[in-house]
Amino acid sequence: IAINLTGKIALVTGSSSGLGAAIAKYMARAGAKVAVHYRSGKDRADAIVDEIKNDGGFAMAFYGDVSKKEDVQKLFSEIDSKLGTVDILVNNAGIDGKRELVGEDDPDDWEKVIEVNLMGPYYCAREAVKRMKPKKSGVIINITSVHEYVPWSGYTAYSSAKAGLSMFTKALAQELSDYNIRVVAIAPGAIKTPINKDVWGNPESLKDLLNKIAMPRLGEVDDIGQAAVFLASDLASYITGTTLLVDGGMALYPDFKHGG
Ligand code: NAD
Repeated sequence: IAINLTGKIALVTGSSSGLGAAIAKYMARAGAKVAVHYRSGKDRADAIVDEIKNDGGFAMAFYGDVSKKEDVQKLFSEIDSKLGTVDILVNNAGIDGKRELVGEDDPDDWEKVIEVNLMGPYYCAREAVKRMKPKKSGVIINITSVHEYVPWSGYTAYSSAKAGLSMFTKALAQELSDYNIRVVAIAPGAIKTPINKDVWGNPESLKDLLNKIAMPRLGEVDDIGQAAVFLASDLASYITGTTLLVDGGMALYPDFKHGG
């Protein structure tokens, strides 16, 4: 059995780094033409495009801030004219924001996290749906987090946005079920990327983090890339409106691992 996305056009938001870059590479390896999307650092997006091309794939870089609906509309029209209409949307762009306790925080910071992590995927899905409905075909993958399930003190905006994105996944999947458009989510655990470098880059916090995972390792970006191509492919054609945890058992209450 092989995963084959030949003929598909995939947009992966925030794919100039981290999980997005890996997802873009896996989509291209499976044969899709990939829109590598970035908000800052065009050079890094171009480097991912070059990597994909050197690997025999097809990719182009596109700019846009997902929290601005005008940017998102422009992003999709540019992809329309340069690649064709999007068949696979991966809503990956996200921020975790800074650690702030409610009441001692700045509401603008809370709003920013919601704008990028929840409004962004909505704006992108909205544009994708307009293009997928007439084709009666499409897949939308939302990158949530274990924090769609696991509360995270100091990161109430992040946890709320990811839980919201999970429910958006389900409600939209229901809405699109007659159109052969699947909507799914991937909830990563702790994956080694720039977003959490300060945690895995420090031996003490790394030890603390490993204690929170049932399997004895952090996740790698490939773990997420592989899950994404599977969900985007026809091998997953009966999967919609659900979240796939890719977390090495982080959500399994690992403190109970040794009984007691
Ligand atoms: P990352 O910081 O490398 O990637 C995030 C990407 O989003 C960056 O490329 C950034 O430029 C882009 N981005 C941020 N704000 C944007 C905006 N307004 N418009 C467009 N793009 C924007 O981190 P990552 O770990 O690869 O994170 C990717 C996704 O995975 C995020 O949604 C994150 O919440 C989620 N996630 C990551 C982990 C992890 O352990 N790394 C765990 C759970 C969930």
